[in-house]
Amino acid sequence: MTALAVQNELNVYQSADARFETAAQKLGLEEGLYRFLKFPNKEITVYIPVMLDNGHLEVFIGYRVHHSIVRGPGKGGIRFAPNVTLDEVRALASWMTWKCAVVNIPFGGAKGGVICDPGKLSNGELERITRRYTAELIEWFGPERDVPAPDLGTNEQTMAWIMDTYSMHMRHTTTAVVTGKPIDLGGSRGRHEATGRGVLFNCDRALAKFRMMHVSTRVIVQGFGNVGSMSAKLLFEAGYKIVGVADIHGALYNEHGFDIPKLFDWTVTQRKPLPDFPDGGEKMSANEILFQPADIVIPAAVENQITSENAHRLQTRILCEGANGPTTSLADDIVDRKGIFVIPDILANAGGVTVSYFEWVQDRQGFFWTEKEVNDRLKNVIENSFEEVVRYAEKHKVNNRVAAYMLAIDRVAYALKERGIYA
Ligand code: GLU
Repeated sequence: MTALAVQNELNVYQSADARFETAAQKLGLEEGLYRFLKFPNKEITVYIPVMLDNGHLEVFIGYRVHHSIVRGPGKGGIRFAPNVTLDEVRALASWMTWKCAVVNIPFGGAKGGVICDPGKLSNGELERITRRYTAELIEWFGPERDVPAPDLGTNEQTMAWIMDTYSMHMRHTTTAVVTGKPIDLGGSRGRHEATGRGVLFNCDRALAKFRMMHVSTRVIVQGFGNVGSMSAKLLFEAGYKIVGVADIHGALYNEHGFDIPKLFDWTVTQRKPLPDFPDGGEKMSANEILFQPADIVIPAAVENQITSENAHRLQTRILCEGANGPTTSLADDIVDRKGIFVIPDILANAGGVTVSYFEWVQDRQGFFWTEKEVNDRLKNVIENSFEEVVRYAEKHKVNNRVAAYMLAIDRVAYALKERGIYA
């Protein structure tokens, strides 16, 4: 492949667009609707002046993209990372539209990002970036407009700062402006684990479909951030055998399985690099772990991990995409030809936004649910969505990813037609 083709393959916006195009064509989506749904509704770049601890003034660049507000307020996380681009935020915003539609929750899709390296910034600097970013976007955000949430490099604390900044401007506390908040500030029980729990419910459905047993199911999880670590923990507790793990420092493979609580103690409590885990296995790179033998591979780190260059090396029956966009669109056919059962990202990691929806509902009602209520409702949503996608795929003879996109695009297009075009 030429360098240009590889470069294009790694542009997530083009990957997102290619998948939208395939599904829209199969649906026979009319030209006008196609154009309406292909492009974002609005996008903004903000320049965020922040006084660093050393007394220097730095200007950070931030983005917020509304892909669609047809089915409800924009919904989607904010990512703090050094390599954020507007194209990436555009892709992630469109995935939020399709994700919310696949699980049938009343939101559109949005996403935000700030180019910065959270690992190199103090808490105070992160707070000032977050508050100024929020202030710049004050008219965009709102419980009825656009509801951010955590993503890579942001967390409960970031959401608390956004909620506080927004509330100070509005002159009243508005908890429903963000989700993924600390529980005592209007957060939902179960939100922290929700994406991992959604991964577990999806894997459980796949196991039931293939009549596989938890104990003999070997799982590889790439990534040990919120999604990866929670997926590993919950799958381990459910009886799965976790044979591969990875964090940013590298990966370990052990066919006998890892003791995940011990690994948590090593990485989370003792803050040590995962590959140095004493009861570990064979060391390898974080990308290499995806191609070791397993029954389920869960890429739960970043984009572009499985590409047209390496997809032929996968040795798994099931690919459950915990991250957004871990597989490039050029790898789709290769994965398909290998007969791998794919649980696509917009379904696999939808547990997070589903519980975000529950959080928004609870905040607006001022009435909070037990963790069991949250988890039971999440299970219901994920199981129904999984069955709908798989049934749709079988009926229309397409793969699960195309089915999930078709189902989602159809729902958004239907809402759009019912609303009509305001002119
Ligand atoms: N950042 C998460 C995602 O990509 C959660 C979004 C949300 O809860 O709004 O799905």
